[in-house]
Amino acid sequence: MSNPYQYVKKEPYMLYIDGEFTASESGETFDIVNPANNQVFAQAYKGGRADVEKAIKAARRAFDHGPWKNMTNFQRSELLYRARDLLEKRAHEFACLETLDCGKIFPGAVHHEVPRSLDAFRYSAGHARHLEGKVVPVDGGGNYFNYVTWEPCGVVGEILPWNGPLTMGCQKISAILAAGNTIVVKPAEWASLSLLALASIFHEAGFPKGVFNIVTGAGSEVGAALVESPDVDMVSLTGGTETGKEIIRRSAETVKQIALELGGKSPNIIFEDVDLKHAARWAVAGFTLNSGQVCVAGTRILVQQSIYEAFIEEMKAVCRKLVAGDGFAHEQGVNFSTLISREHAESVWSYIRKGKEEGARLVLGGEPYQEEHLQKGNFVPPTIFADVKPHMTIFQEEIFGPVACVTPFKDEAEAIELANNSKYGLAGAVFTQNGARAHRVANQIKAGQIYINSYYSKGIMESPGTGWKQSGLGVAGIHKYMHSRTVFMSFADRSEAPV
Ligand code: NAD
Repeated sequence: MSNPYQYVKKEPYMLYIDGEFTASESGETFDIVNPANNQVFAQAYKGGRADVEKAIKAARRAFDHGPWKNMTNFQRSELLYRARDLLEKRAHEFACLETLDCGKIFPGAVHHEVPRSLDAFRYSAGHARHLEGKVVPVDGGGNYFNYVTWEPCGVVGEILPWNGPLTMGCQKISAILAAGNTIVVKPAEWASLSLLALASIFHEAGFPKGVFNIVTGAGSEVGAALVESPDVDMVSLTGGTETGKEIIRRSAETVKQIALELGGKSPNIIFEDVDLKHAARWAVAGFTLNSGQVCVAGTRILVQQSIYEAFIEEMKAVCRKLVAGDGFAHEQGVNFSTLISREHAESVWSYIRKGKEEGARLVLGGEPYQEEHLQKGNFVPPTIFADVKPHMTIFQEEIFGPVACVTPFKDEAEAIELANNSKYGLAGAVFTQNGARAHRVANQIKAGQIYINSYYSKGIMESPGTGWKQSGLGVAGIHKYMHSRTVFMSFADRSEAPV
């Protein structure tokens, strides 16, 4: 394969504010690090409060006074299609950047991350053209006409995580723009590269200045400024639950619209009638994809007692096929990626230590790789704990790494009780050949996204899940970036006025 570094700029990546690429006010930069070997391979300007304030002003102006406001939905849709086409031309570059910056397995970036990003633009561009309202029959003896329209919220601050920056970024940004908003994007500190590169797509596509802005920087500074600003109408976060709580607190002063897509600790229920090999493959995919750095990861695997040990053996066999390494080494069989940073890997190791201390039975992994090339990166092997009890920390807390907690259950009622023994409610799965049971159990898992006999969404744009309990706030889909307006129009005679 060609050299992926050919796409990396030598000079620091710039912020994009008001239609211009710009250095940060402070002139400070930060390192962009390849998590597969912890080598610095690029720099980017580090944004601060002054930069985000400039971006908010630009987005405000563009929303209130710019050409964007008066564009038709058709015109906005055309711009989104144009952005999609430009991104498609640079598909290989973006797949390389995402692998370099986040340690993704390259074929996954080529066949999933980039196509899903393109699809997000296509979907949102189409959606922009059918954001219909409705006409409602109302009181008034036929003298009143009531209609409801959907309007953009205004300036949206979009705060992103690092686990799928390009795909998640494109999904959110395209929907926010399709709804007619303007946007200030804040990528995560550990994964800014593909989003910074995306600015050139919006620039070239010809979006009016101020419509799309991107400012890097710390959550506590740039993110917090977006949340606190009275000029930002809405903040949308995809991130951890603790960050979500902080945003709820900090947004109180301005009572702005917020949408939160937060953490999870999703149950995966395996009944005794399954095909063991099939279910074990899905169960392993459910907690090892992207090294477990997936919000909906199925990390609490609940297995019916009669197949408990056999199922654990099947899972171990599947895990042994995972080969850790640099995402570009796929031709050498690498299919299991690094974690995003040393710091995050250390947090995952601390949970592994906790699992051992609290008495869970370690049946696979749990010790660092010995190979020198893997020690340079942030690799944690697939790790399985059995006999995990609900009171244990590893059962309750989101680890966000390739660590599965396996717990036995005797019957359907106990499975559901265990599944719902969590503050989270993001996703869940059930494996059984009994259709009625699958349906029954799916209906009782308290979560916004359920899979039956497989894992992961097959339609994130058309059928988005919502986070229940502490996994999120806000409705799913494009309407969360919009307000409704109901209009009562009178054809009545003036004599009907009450005073
Ligand atoms: P994080 O909460 O640490 O950071 C997310 C973003 O919030 C980052 O850009 C960060 O800089 C910013 N931030 C941090 N503190 C802030 C503050 N006080 N004010 C404003 N912004 C602030 O999360 P992460 O570690 O980047 O991502 C992993 C988490 O995201 C996991 O919990 C995962 O489950 C969750 N996630 C959820 C979904 C979903 O759809 N529900 C999708 C992906 C990831």
